[in-house]
Amino acid sequence: MQIERTENENHKVTTYLPKGEIKAVVAIFIGHSVEDGGAYSPWMELNEYAYNNEPAYNLGVGLANIGYKALVYDRVVAGWKGWQPMCDDLNQQCADLHLMLHFNCYNGRARGTETLYFYASKKGYKAARIFCNHIYKHFNTHKRGAKPLTYGERAYALVAKPKAVSVILEAAFGDNKADAQALIEGRPTYHDALITATKEYFGDES
Ligand SMILES: [Zn+2]
Repeated sequence: MQIERTENENHKVTTYLPKGEIKAVVAIFIGHSVEDGGAYSPWMELNEYAYNNEPAYNLGVGLANIGYKALVYDRVVAGWKGWQPMCDDLNQQCADLHLMLHFNCYNGRARGTETLYFYASKKGYKAARIFCNHIYKHFNTHKRGAKPLTYGERAYALVAKPKAVSVILEAAFGDNKADAQALIEGRPTYHDALITATKEYFGDES
């Protein structure tokens, strides 16, 4: 495996290149940014960015070990301006699959895994279902399912704009005590569930 790092004022990209032929290109976004960490889990004492950092890099390494080119996007600045240059970059990289790592927070009682995709994308729906299945089983939480995002809905551009099949992965609810506990316990092996899901999505039986 070869590792390359690039950095600009918006984001850092770590590229993991496999040895030999590349099966597909997978982009991994760490939800939110250094500047704005997203939702905060009082049970974990972590925000989304902090929680998902380690699984994202582990996923990059794990995918490259089995023949995928993986790019981990790590945002330095918050907001839309910070995201657009990364979307352009993603399109330039010809990513096939684009995974955005997040967790939910709501009222402390809601729990479970949900995945969000662009309503018009059949491949997005397929990927969202596969990832939801593997993630909810990994964390042993509820299956909330694959949910379509349409024009004008919050975050729809994140799944609609990139050419890559794009899915937002809301692993569980960080403000729910049981989910938060599962997120902590399952964090060291979370990337394994995501690798299994990636292989299933690409029909990779290796
Ligand atoms: Zn988030």
